[in-house]
Amino acid sequence: MSLLRSRAAVSPLRRDLGAAVLGLPAVDDLVAVERPEEPMHCLRPEAIAAAARAFVSGFPGETLYAVKCNPEPAVLRALWAGGVRRFDCASAAEVALVRSMFPEAGIHFMHPVKARSAIREAWGRHGVRDFVLDSADELAKILAETGAGAADDLGLVVRLALPKGEAVYDLSGKFGAAPAEAAALLRAARPHAARLGVSFHVGSQCLEPLAWRRALALAGAVIREAGVPLEIVDVGGGFPVAYPGVEPPALGSFFAEIEAGFEALDLPEGTALWAEPGRALVAAGGSVVVQVQLRRDGALYVNDGVYGALSDAGLPGFAFPVRLIRPGAPTPSSALRDFALFGPTCDSADRMRGPFPLPDDAREGDWIEIGQLGAYGACLRTGFNGFDRARIVEVRDRPMIETEDPALAA
Ligand SMILES: *Cc1c(COP(=O)(O)O)cnc(C)c1O
Repeated sequence: MSLLRSRAAVSPLRRDLGAAVLGLPAVDDLVAVERPEEPMHCLRPEAIAAAARAFVSGFPGETLYAVKCNPEPAVLRALWAGGVRRFDCASAAEVALVRSMFPEAGIHFMHPVKARSAIREAWGRHGVRDFVLDSADELAKILAETGAGAADDLGLVVRLALPKGEAVYDLSGKFGAAPAEAAALLRAARPHAARLGVSFHVGSQCLEPLAWRRALALAGAVIREAGVPLEIVDVGGGFPVAYPGVEPPALGSFFAEIEAGFEALDLPEGTALWAEPGRALVAAGGSVVVQVQLRRDGALYVNDGVYGALSDAGLPGFAFPVRLIRPGAPTPSSALRDFALFGPTCDSADRMRGPFPLPDDAREGDWIEIGQLGAYGACLRTGFNGFDRARIVEVRDRPMIETEDPALAA
């Protein structure tokens, strides 16, 4: 992740939200004045803060933001303004970034395979106390590199593997211990842990609330098999957002299944419930404005693509909301046509099939705003082929897909 470059690219930022957002420019005005020839990432701090407020107040436990989803400092500040106080980090750079911005934040190191130096730095320099693991070797690493034990307030969370589920991005193949192994790890970790927990991740953009209920039942079986008490159940991330043609169930129905599944475990009073949302907090809060460099029939060649902020529009084939921006006359045609987009690199895989419905007279020089890109967008940019320049601005616009979810209404 290009953490350092994207940080360096940040324009001056405002700290307070709410009233301050009214002082921010609108996307259309920025385009009209600046006529940007490089991709322009537009952050909507008010939308991000609103999504955070809704999640933090609706989720029946603690909310940890999964930093990898969008580590932009302006995004982290908006989340903080929305009430997020804990962060799920997966690398030394993420830990250092969050600590530099929020001395008081709770930071949890939730990657099951960590560099030894990252463990040492997180523990020694940044005050991180909770670490995830899914193997005996990683448990030994954590104990060796922290030199810690229960008396030193060490938190250990065992990541459980889940059967392949319904999420758009299935993560079951890479991380997590199988149930019997997870039970053994809980027993092995118990004597060293001031806090012991179990976690899982159902996969990203998971549209089925029952997936969490099933995962919690599996976690319950593992906890019973382990036969040791624990203090934390972490239901991970994966909460979905709307894309064109995809309308997920209301967030509240996910929370209801999680609450019911958690209560069914019948754990002692005071057992903590955590979630690690990423996409659900930030997707609607980001868009990118690209410029058309060439039109060829139904294809538009634009200045950002799958090696930039649009990787999900490539092979994964996500459809994103789009709108044409053409400052001044002539007004774009009101008839729409489905376009495909090509990105700027020389790779023929730099293609986004969409479909992207845009005015049928779209042409060279027009701009296109592509929405719902606050999650896994700008942070996945690469420098491939020299196309690594982009601006980041904060704007006052509403999200390009307004959520119908009452829990997420701003
Ligand atoms: C990526 C990730 C998340 C966030 O997932 P979303 O689908 O963006 O909510 C949470 N937890 C872990 C361990 C992750 O790897």
